[in-house]
Amino acid sequence: MIEKLIPEKINGLEAYSPNLTPVPIRLDANESPFTPSKAVLDELAAAVYGIDFNRYPDPYASELVSAFSQVFSLDTKNVVAGNGSDELISIIVSGLLEAGDSVTVAMPDFSMYAFYSYLAGAREIRFEKTELFEIDFDGLISSVNESGSKLVMFSNPCNPTGWCAKRGDVERFIKGVNAIVVVDEAYMEFSRESESVMDLIGRYDNLIVLKTMSKAFGSAGLRLGFMCACEELCEAVKKIKSPYNVNTVSQVFGRIILSHYDEIKANTEIIQENVGYLKGELSKISSADIVRIYDTSANFVFMDISSAEKAAKIKESLMKKGVAIRCMGHRLRITAGTREECDIFLAKFKEEVA
Ligand code: PMP
Repeated sequence: MIEKLIPEKINGLEAYSPNLTPVPIRLDANESPFTPSKAVLDELAAAVYGIDFNRYPDPYASELVSAFSQVFSLDTKNVVAGNGSDELISIIVSGLLEAGDSVTVAMPDFSMYAFYSYLAGAREIRFEKTELFEIDFDGLISSVNESGSKLVMFSNPCNPTGWCAKRGDVERFIKGVNAIVVVDEAYMEFSRESESVMDLIGRYDNLIVLKTMSKAFGSAGLRLGFMCACEELCEAVKKIKSPYNVNTVSQVFGRIILSHYDEIKANTEIIQENVGYLKGELSKISSADIVRIYDTSANFVFMDISSAEKAAKIKESLMKKGVAIRCMGHRLRITAGTREECDIFLAKFKEEVA
């Protein structure tokens, strides 16, 4: 009986099942290997005494938004906080699209864009990237304008490929389409040359930039994301988000962590070095199993393996040896951890490839 009451659109889905097996080295979720320093942890601990646990949180997370705005030189009216950027993607898609509207997603990209679009009942148009996973922006402009898509989403740098579009191309795209453009800059801190378009939100009212504290900010456990856009879009999203979406502990801890941006920057520089090291060492391995290693502007390396079977076997064997990495068909994605974690991964990986 109950099956009949569960909508058909949910029946074909599978619950998100991250790898929860305890494993000493986690290089499968693009997280930061660093947690806050002892000094920052002490500040977080002291702040706990000031939290009104019995009260609902500030619906607009004003102090957190203020701290974020300061780091990115934004006006607070152009920022909305979310329970991770996952939540913001869901709100944007379900709130800004109406039945029958279409959304364009450049493929491959972060799976949540297509997932939430599907749930929202939007017509999803998949625009294929080039062989090297670049976006042909002229092609994308034509596709979006011909289809009349209302929303376009892509990550820059891209998860899972690591490719980063140039700022000039992204700006040309924003100007060239009659659609809301969501540029998800979850990994932009790791890019050696920043191609961020964050500063363009004052110039283009159809631009939304998404940020997360789950990557360079080392706070995936807090679930904090931010949407940056013109005031009208921010006000629209505030009207439709759930009132108390960001809990008080995350608001307070997030604000303190953002106030130590120097620490985040120092950790980011180490990760940038480590990802360069990881890619360099992988490139030195001579193996028929390694077909291609892609350039990366993010905190991970993406590579083609000789077959899906081989890629799955490598992933499984490494898991047994205590190292978690991500396998997607015949491709592997490895997050740069600490230098020591990269070395352990490399040693175990070499045992697996011919
Ligand atoms: N965008 C991209 C491109 C991501 O890779 C991820 C997480 N893997 C997210 C957004 C989600 O971030 P959050 O943890 O803030 O929900």
